[in-house]
Amino acid sequence: MQEALGKKRRETQGGASLDFTTEGRGLTHPAGRRSRGSQIGCRGGCWAKMAAMRKELPRRLLGLKFLQAVSTSSMGTLPKQVKIVEVGPRDGLQNEKNIVPTPVKIKLIDMLSEAGLSVIEATSFVSPKWVPQMADHTEVLKGIQKFPGVNYPVLTPNLKGFEAAVAAGAKEVAIFGAASELFTKKNINCSMEESLQRFDAIRKAAQSANIPVRGYVSCVLGCPYEGKISPAKVAEVTKKLYSMGCYEISLGDTIGVGTPGIMKDMLSAVMQEVPPAALAVHCHDTYGQALANTLMALQMGVSVVDSSVAGLGGCPYAQGASGNLATEDLVYMLEGLGIHTGVNLQKLLEAGNFICQALNRKTGSKVAQATCKL
Ligand SMILES: [Zn+2]
Repeated sequence: MQEALGKKRRETQGGASLDFTTEGRGLTHPAGRRSRGSQIGCRGGCWAKMAAMRKELPRRLLGLKFLQAVSTSSMGTLPKQVKIVEVGPRDGLQNEKNIVPTPVKIKLIDMLSEAGLSVIEATSFVSPKWVPQMADHTEVLKGIQKFPGVNYPVLTPNLKGFEAAVAAGAKEVAIFGAASELFTKKNINCSMEESLQRFDAIRKAAQSANIPVRGYVSCVLGCPYEGKISPAKVAEVTKKLYSMGCYEISLGDTIGVGTPGIMKDMLSAVMQEVPPAALAVHCHDTYGQALANTLMALQMGVSVVDSSVAGLGGCPYAQGASGNLATEDLVYMLEGLGIHTGVNLQKLLEAGNFICQALNRKTGSKVAQATCKL
């Protein structure tokens, strides 16, 4: 991957170490193509202005490279590359009240694949009774283009969902648990222990079908019912999922209440039980803390981050709250830190713009908003 990061030149000035990357940072697709033809921007009054600036925009985005000469010497150890798990088509769209047409979902996922994301959670094989938005899971999974080297995991809350997912061609599945007894009770109507037993059936079936299982732990930094969640509790649930065979466990601040200090305490406890290489973070931006919390996790050795294009998603416990961390904002920050993602920001912005138009809503990504105003 070192080649992909470009040639690094290290200069030392008065004891401070400055890293410069001189070529090959993220704005270009791994295949070397760069889109110039399509519009990006938000809805409303920006469009006329955007059309006029359409040609100029890619150049302006490229100008962001000036921001990439950063000193990271005082930031602890940051990973050289980060795997982004795009959760917009599942976690994001699941929150939409109006049913999103299947072709729109398929096109969104194809655009995200084209943007260079290597993991895109495509849909959820949950009962349509519970989540009508995901009723077209089979059509979506079968309809998307399968880009080489891209994983399209799907959420499978029970064995029935797992079997339907495998029949539809799923090559990876995800299961979820929570670090809160009350949240588990309200969300899936069973105890934490029962929920883990339920997932054990999926785990066994997945193992015999040679299908990797990813685990989610919800409410790791706070719960709408229990409030504060103890780091020891998160560590306990994470350890259980890891010992059940989940190859990666995503720690979710489901309601977006955490701050970096709490993230640090939680991760310190979890990392005593599970190696950092098996951990991911999943931050919601309800209180505007998602990027800060993610950066703390990166400094502590986590190198897998969940995010959602255009910040899709929400929080059912906070009216009108921001959704997941926006993938555009995450990519922008990582590029600024010289961390390789393999994502083409320009194409990602186009995917975000596409879905915002389809949903008739404003983007939740600050980077997309700023680009619109350029
Ligand atoms: Zn989420």
